Amino acid sequence: MRFRDILLFLCATAAACAGATTAASPQQVSPPPVATLAEKPLSERVVAYQIAARFDADKRTLDATEVLTYRNLTGQPQDIFPFHLYLNAFQPTSTFMKEERRDRADIELKDKYKASAEVKSLEVAGMGDLTSQIKFVAPDDGNPDDRTVFQVKLPRPVASNESVQFRIAFHDQFGQVFARTGYKRDFIMGAQWFPKIGVWWQGAWNCHQFHADTEFFADFGTFDVKLTLPQNEIVGASGVQLDEMKNADGTKTLTFRGEDIHDFAWTAQPTYHVVDDSFNGSMGRVKIRLLLQPDHIDQAGRHLRIMQETMKRFDQWYGPYPYKQITVVDPADLRAGGMEYPTLITGDAFWWMPEGLRLFPENVVEHEFGHQYWYAMVATNEFEDAWLDEGLNSYTECKILDDIFGKHKSVMDLWGLTESDDDARRNSYLPAADLDPMSRFAYKYISDSSYGGITYGKTATVLLTLEKAIGEETLKRVIHTYFMRYRFTHPTQEDFLKTAEQVSGQSLRWYFDQAVYGTQVLDYEIRRANSDRLDWYLKDPPKEKKGKTVYRTQVQVHRKGDFIFPVDVVIRFDNGESITEHWDGKDRWVRYTYEKKAKLVSAQIDPGTAVLLDRNLFNNSYVREEDTRARWKIVSYWTWITQLLSQCLAWLA
Ligand SMILES: [Zn+2]
Repeated sequence: MRFRDILLFLCATAAACAGATTAASPQQVSPPPVATLAEKPLSERVVAYQIAARFDADKRTLDATEVLTYRNLTGQPQDIFPFHLYLNAFQPTSTFMKEERRDRADIELKDKYKASAEVKSLEVAGMGDLTSQIKFVAPDDGNPDDRTVFQVKLPRPVASNESVQFRIAFHDQFGQVFARTGYKRDFIMGAQWFPKIGVWWQGAWNCHQFHADTEFFADFGTFDVKLTLPQNEIVGASGVQLDEMKNADGTKTLTFRGEDIHDFAWTAQPTYHVVDDSFNGSMGRVKIRLLLQPDHIDQAGRHLRIMQETMKRFDQWYGPYPYKQITVVDPADLRAGGMEYPTLITGDAFWWMPEGLRLFPENVVEHEFGHQYWYAMVATNEFEDAWLDEGLNSYTECKILDDIFGKHKSVMDLWGLTESDDDARRNSYLPAADLDPMSRFAYKYISDSSYGGITYGKTATVLLTLEKAIGEETLKRVIHTYFMRYRFTHPTQEDFLKTAEQVSGQSLRWYFDQAVYGTQVLDYEIRRANSDRLDWYLKDPPKEKKGKTVYRTQVQVHRKGDFIFPVDVVIRFDNGESITEHWDGKDRWVRYTYEKKAKLVSAQIDPGTAVLLDRNLFNNSYVREEDTRARWKIVSYWTWITQLLSQCLAWLA
């Protein structure tokens, strides 16, 4: 970034800066929103970022000046401030790479994938140049070579309710996309690209290192970003674009503003195909800006349809989308796809994907838009409570995709084969069922497949099973209440669980203790079922006669796993009679005995297959005298295929 540009930018934003340097009052009057459909600020706006950045498309470098005004609403004086510097994850000795290689020792970080961010200078208004006070820290694993978090100690504390202003000059070197951010030929995804302050949360700074399996956590505020880059670039970014100015040196400077968001991402590529459309929601018209790869122009309709159908259901079921725009990016590199940023998402698409195969773009676009609710607005801690964003989002994804495409058809409806998202999510959970609790910090799972299986798959399955206990409509009201109550804040898992208990009017602790905090596995089986004629002891018993011979029928139901959940058992007899038993599941087994002039035909646990947490559905039934081998074989093969598909799906998000 040239000095003149920095100067111009700083002058342009002087009014806001001037207020901040003199410790602006937290009660200052905000200008009317331009990036949201609301009439006043939606969040507490702890942070105000003003960034002027120049991107060199040849070198894939970025030089910028960031002016961050931070309001100290922590309730106490603060003199230490931590920042994320996440591009440094793409270095061989980082904690991110250490964790990548823990599961797959063949993963390499070739030179082209390396990336870095360097703070050139850091000043604090009224306190001078504190660059020498920058210290890298590794709060999660103590790795002295990890440079993804730094902190700075101020010479004097910032009083409670006062503001502090940081002025940071930094330099980024992007690498080819390894995960989420970087370039591929002339495509660039600018994510995790600027020093981002941590969150004061639950009485301490929360500023985790960049891990292989975790995402992000930041405070709400405003972003004023000026991005200078070559004139031929087509650009998408968080927030809304306010201005475009052509510069004499062949560059242009675009001005963006984001309000009530907690991160800012951008992308550029000269060959993006732009499609503009809109969605009319309960707060007004939202612009949908679609940036497609040039060979995916024929995918525009699929993207727009899934966006509009998804936004409609979120609006009606859970609450309004209050921003004026959502930008949907179809990235040139899959590894930058399937990501969420405030008001900007990345999907994935393939030109050859048949319409009946809905993993791309439908499933992934729906999922990433869902994160506008479960991450961007309800901004939970993705490091510590990952199930609250990924898992809750996987559940709402199941509900919304089912509603759009029909039950059992949300992943695939092709050549007579169907697959539902419910099954896909459940299948990803099965191999990891007893490894990690949902409440585990995301970077502490035994493996990344367990993280994916539990955080996404188990949470979705836990909530689908909760429908059995409190009802589908009640759970919808729970989620609506949770969204409206906690949007633009940082709730915890207990906030969600308490909302569920309050809205349903039921004590659910017994369920959450097992499902959320525990690793108990749920598995019920029909252990034994038979009918035995009562007159077996006669020396010459009469021939069995339907409706005449009396049988003693017993059905043994066994709780194989440690997860206790009430179940229904339906027992059918050959006289057409059907008995439904309700078992609380508390003992290890139960035996039902009947004496009737009828013989057992079948015994079935959970006949509607509502208890999807049950790890093995094959042992839930007994069927008399039916050759079930062939049928089960087909089912087994299909299960295997769907598990494979589910794994693919799990990696998308
Ligand atoms: Zn996700």
